[in-house]
This record gives sequence, C-alpha cells and structure tokens, in this order.
Amino acid sequence: MRELYGVIGDPIAHSMSPLMHNDAFKALHYDADYHAFHVTPDNLEAAVKGMKAIGVSGFNVTIPHKTAIIPYLDEIDPLAEAIGAVNTVVRKGTKWIGYNTDGPGFIQSLKEDWKEDVTNEHVLVVGAGGAAKAIYYALAQSGVKQIDICNRTLEKAIALQQANPFHCQSKAITLQDAEECLAQYSLIVQTTSIGMHPNVHLQPISLKHLNVNAYVADIIYNPFETAFLAEAKRLGANIQNGLGMFIYQGAIAFEKWTGQTPDVKRMKQIVMDKLGGK
Ligand code: NAP
Repeated sequence: MRELYGVIGDPIAHSMSPLMHNDAFKALHYDADYHAFHVTPDNLEAAVKGMKAIGVSGFNVTIPHKTAIIPYLDEIDPLAEAIGAVNTVVRKGTKWIGYNTDGPGFIQSLKEDWKEDVTNEHVLVVGAGGAAKAIYYALAQSGVKQIDICNRTLEKAIALQQANPFHCQSKAITLQDAEECLAQYSLIVQTTSIGMHPNVHLQPISLKHLNVNAYVADIIYNPFETAFLAEAKRLGANIQNGLGMFIYQGAIAFEKWTGQTPDVKRMKQIVMDKLGGK
C-alpha cells in the first residue's frame, strides 16, 4: 500500500518540505506521498492520535508544535530530549519515536560545505532561541570542545549553557562582548531571525573584529545572503547560508523513515528553483 508522510504546523502553506520529499520519493521509485497538514495547537493531540490511527509512516513537525508534541510521543531520542524539541517523528511498530534533525542537519551541511572535522574549532553561536539550542547541543554532542553563546537576552544564553547535558567548554556572553572578542572564534554561527526578509539590512552583531580565516554560517536562507554573510564575505571569510541545514534536516528525516539516502543535490536544486535562486 502507498505510504503516507507529512508535516504538521501552523501556518504550513509556505512549507517547502512536500516539494522536496515528494521529489525524493519519485527519484527513488518509493511508493509514498508527503503532505502538508495545517494543525492548530488545540488540535495537536487529536492530530497525532489520528496520524497513528490511519497508519501514517512518519512526519515532520514545525512551528509551533516542536515542543508541545513531546507528551504525545512514545519515545524521544536523547538529543531531541536535551533540546526539548522534535522535528521528525518515525513510526516503529505501534510507537511514535521523536527526533531532532535540525542540529545534525546543520553539522552535515558544515561537513559538506566546509570541512569534515569541526571538533577542534572555537565556535560562537549567535542567538539563544530554538534553532540555537538545537545547533549548540548537536555540536556539543558531536564532540566540539569549545562553544560560546551570545544573545540579546543574556539570561537565555546562560540558561542554555547551564542546561547543556553534553560535555564542552562554554561561556554565555553579551552581544557586545562577542563583538569585542570575535577574533578568537574560528566558526561563527548566526541563528537569530535578524536579517530575514523583509528586514534584510539588519544584523545582530558587527563583524569588525572578525578573524578572516574564520568560517561564517547564517542559518537564514531568505535572503540567500544576509547582511551578516555579506559583511563576512567582504572581510574575506568563507560563508554558508541556511539552505544546507534545511536540506540536510530533511535528508536525515528521509533516511530515518525509509532507510534510503536521498539525492541531496537534487533536493537542494528543487528548493533553490522554488526560491528563485541560482
Ligand atoms: P526563536 O526561538 O524565536 O529565537 C529567535 C532568536 O533571535 C533569539 O536569540 C532572539 O533573541 C533573537 N532576536 C530576535 N529578534 C532580535 C532583535 N531584534 N535583536 C536581537 N536579537 C533578536 O527562533 P528560532 O526558531 O531559533 O529561529 C531563528 C532563525 O533561524 C529564523 O530566522 C528561522 O527561520 C531560522 N531557522 C532556519 C532553519 C534552517 O533549516 N535553515 C531551521 C530553523 C530555524 P532574544 O532571546 O533576546 O529574544
């Protein structure tokens, strides 16, 4: 029987996941469909039970359900548990298992675009929201030894640093301190929503003191090149945007559902075409 997968969120009409996953199923001759389901918070429990009842094989979870879904799942993977957010649900027999593939997706995109081993980099994470937490904890879990975090609301950065269950050296600092001691970092990861369309001229910190040998990533992909990345590039640093993270979080979810590796280049191209990029 044809399998059914999907993504739940509110809003959901903008999601590019159906495009990406349906194309990957087609390319691998896998007999499955992927749909976007608009699920409001008051319908979340019923939706998760309903998905199980009708035999859905797996699904993605997006804003605002990534944390709220946890009580309705049967098991949570340790990284997703530490992050406190699930973006991928896999059916195993009669159980729903929750994973977070956002952080691993970011790491995979770094390996692809920059270098295989990032464990000895001195990392600065800019921002302390949901995406920052996923990336920070995934980097720490994967063995990165030094990860500092800065945020407008310092208390949130301190809370993430104190709750990190994975071993690494880490400091929580203000945006001002980050700007001043920027030269010591070899990998900078911008995770705030600043610079996203339509506020494309904004950036969270100045890169005046950037070490030009540092690698600079921004997880925003609309626009493809934020003001933050444009400044890093102007100063001579190598850069990457958030498209790779989005593609790889999807590719890792796809592998968990089907046991098959999708064609990541093809996934990337189809999303770029949709976004009107080159
Ligand atoms: P979030 O939980 O709401 O966190 C937002 C972060 O941005 C916080 O650190 C917040 O600081 C900071 N911020 C917002 N407005 C600010 C301002 N005016 N000045 C200084 N800091 C500000 O959001 P999220 O879920 O982590 O998402 C953040 C970004 O990542 C979004 O642009 C999202 O599209 C992108 N994202 C990309 C991917 C991908 O696959 N590429 C995946 C997930 C998210 P405070 O704590 O001080 O408010």
